[in-house]
Amino acid sequence: MRIAISGGTGFIGKALVNDFTRKGHEVYVLSRSTKQSSTPRINFLTWNDDLQCELDGIDVFINLAGESLNSGRWTTKRKNRILKSRIEITHRVYTLLKELVNKPSVYINASAIGYYGTSEAKTFTEADLEHGIDFLAETVVAWEKEAQNVEQLGIRTVYSRFGVVLGTEGGAFPKMIMPYKFMIGGNVGSGKQWLSWIHIDDVVGLLQFAITNKDINGPINATAPNPVRNEMFGKAIAKTTGKPHWLSVPSFALHILLGEMSDLLLKGQKVLPEKALQHGYIFQYADINSALINLLNEEKNN
Ligand code: NDP
Repeated sequence: MRIAISGGTGFIGKALVNDFTRKGHEVYVLSRSTKQSSTPRINFLTWNDDLQCELDGIDVFINLAGESLNSGRWTTKRKNRILKSRIEITHRVYTLLKELVNKPSVYINASAIGYYGTSEAKTFTEADLEHGIDFLAETVVAWEKEAQNVEQLGIRTVYSRFGVVLGTEGGAFPKMIMPYKFMIGGNVGSGKQWLSWIHIDDVVGLLQFAITNKDINGPINATAPNPVRNEMFGKAIAKTTGKPHWLSVPSFALHILLGEMSDLLLKGQKVLPEKALQHGYIFQYADINSALINLLNEEKNN
């Protein structure tokens, strides 16, 4: 297959690119900056290239691009960049796909479980149509709405609502295990907030499952079937690493340090991958202990 990935230089993108090329697919990575490829089957393109020509007849388009959520304190300016970057790129992708003579058969747009808002008590699945009202939820709603334009072109469209993606090459995991390495691990805030996580290998597996499974469209939760509370997560890291879990970080300290961005650490949501399971996706890492054993081993060997 010929697969285009915008934001393919990021944490999730790189994992996908590696796997696709290993399986013999031709991959086109769209980036804001020029890059040289030393790997066969990886083609770097910028948004200024003749994309109509380069990408005509592609089979799949995956859009992951957007300003990082943890690139700094959430000032009004940064929140604007987080939202605008996603809307603008998604609109650009839509315009491109509209113009392609031979369009892809499937379009996957990154999204996030932030759609549902946060709660310590509720459980969310794709059947929950009501969305949250905080900044992240509103960002995701606007992002998915923009991506819906692609659906209007008659292209099967999937919104991959990622949970917290755990991998050793990027994302939140390396930062989450750091305190344990220094023997100062413990609850973040109350420890009761939910962490709906997913192993990076399952992100790769689930997106490929969504590509080949023609019945899948609309939102799909990319989360493992067994979310954990922050305290359970911390204790599982402690158990796997043999390090203590004892020093809690108080909520107010994170508020002072990070402002509204502390929501990323202090609040969460329990999200289940109902659609993936209904369609028969088998998770490689369904429980947190197996995921942590794998990730910590991988970390040791890197
Ligand atoms: P990364 O931040 O690692 O990569 C995103 C890519 O987007 C970058 O490589 C960059 O590509 C491009 N990008 C960055 N800033 C901008 C900008 N201002 N305008 C346009 N493009 C930009 O993200 P991940 O791989 O971790 O995640 C992919 C998507 O999934 C993101 O949109 C993220 O919000 C979402 N997501 C991720 C989760 C996670 O746990 N990782 C959880 C929930 C959602 P380049 O510089 O080459 O243009």
